[in-house]
Amino acid sequence: MMNALESRSSDPVEKANLSTSLAVRLEGVTKSYDAVPALKGVSLDVADGEFITLLGPSGCGKTTTLRLIGGFERPDSGAVYVAGKNVTYEPPFRRPVNTVFQQYALFPHLSIYNNIAYGLRHARVPKAEIHRRVNQKMALMEIADLGDRKPSQLSGGQQQRVALARALVMEPKVLLLDEPLGALDYKLRKAMQLELRRVHREVGVTFIYVTHDQEEAMTMSDRIVVMNQGRIEQLGVPEEIYDNPATPFVAGFVGDTNLVNGVARECRAGRATVDLGVMGVVEGVCRYEVDAGDQVLVSVRPEDVRVTPSSESSIIVRDAMLIGSSIHLTMVAGDSTVSALVPRSAAVLPGTPVAVNLVGPRVCVYAREQA
Ligand code: ATP
Repeated sequence: MMNALESRSSDPVEKANLSTSLAVRLEGVTKSYDAVPALKGVSLDVADGEFITLLGPSGCGKTTTLRLIGGFERPDSGAVYVAGKNVTYEPPFRRPVNTVFQQYALFPHLSIYNNIAYGLRHARVPKAEIHRRVNQKMALMEIADLGDRKPSQLSGGQQQRVALARALVMEPKVLLLDEPLGALDYKLRKAMQLELRRVHREVGVTFIYVTHDQEEAMTMSDRIVVMNQGRIEQLGVPEEIYDNPATPFVAGFVGDTNLVNGVARECRAGRATVDLGVMGVVEGVCRYEVDAGDQVLVSVRPEDVRVTPSSESSIIVRDAMLIGSSIHLTMVAGDSTVSALVPRSAAVLPGTPVAVNLVGPRVCVYAREQA
């Protein structure tokens, strides 16, 4: 997490516009397969050198977006720019883009060295130059001593390193990564996430990464694009997506949250006061205006729920589950179920009546139709 935080910029695109061109621009891109829409008008600017992640549930259009940037698909309408050039109708080999897939697709009969050198030989790069570039990328990916082996003699993690070296050796301006760690076990995936951050920093290539794993997106990305049903729901730095989700969908998809029904009392200057019945009155950020009396949804992260025993209360603790250093409490409050993440010292036994206090700058209020 620290690594990712160090290099994050609050507005990478603005920075890129000042100094260099954009790596990728999508302008109003739509794409349907047999009349079923996969993308419904996606516009996106990716800054040069940025690590941006497309995050969303299965079928939301992440891979289609990647394939349009790579040139494996053409949009029905809209335009795709890479490094300032309109490439909408250019084939993949005319784009300064390379892709790493979840399936490494290494040539089984070739050595690791020859797998990595393959594209350069095909492009008729001089032999000495091939040698230099392949060795440099093997060192970068920390596989310098594996050059003579065959892919079947490597672990999954090592094979993925080879796939990355093979893509980076072509020196693309943009590297597309489609769930590249999906086949690895949890521990290896965590280690490779850090590796990918390091490699990204060292090579300075723009990375566009696809995942449905919100934790992975939070750990690695400069910015996250949250997609849902062929559209972008929110684009922002990880902290912004987590702390101020634009819609109830984003609030629920990125991290755990409570979505509680309430009635707006007042909304002014981007803040709303909401009556939550037995849970009292709460104040939160409101991106879109709501009127007094409107039915609304309030998003509160479990770590922003304070719980204190109160014999007067009708809110009852249903479950208390140990999660490492914290306790996850589930409470029944009228028609709602509310979760809280509290320190062990604040643990409360199931069956206890409690008062619940929703606090902090991350409380968000949405009109019911935004759900
Ligand atoms: P996943 O995480 O499961 O890979 P995704 O977010 O990458 O999902 P896409 O693969 O982009 O989603 O698919 C978006 C929509 O387009 C889905 O409804 C999918 O079924 C459909 N789709 C994608 N490719 C094709 C195709 N070649 N033919 C028909 N429908 C397709």
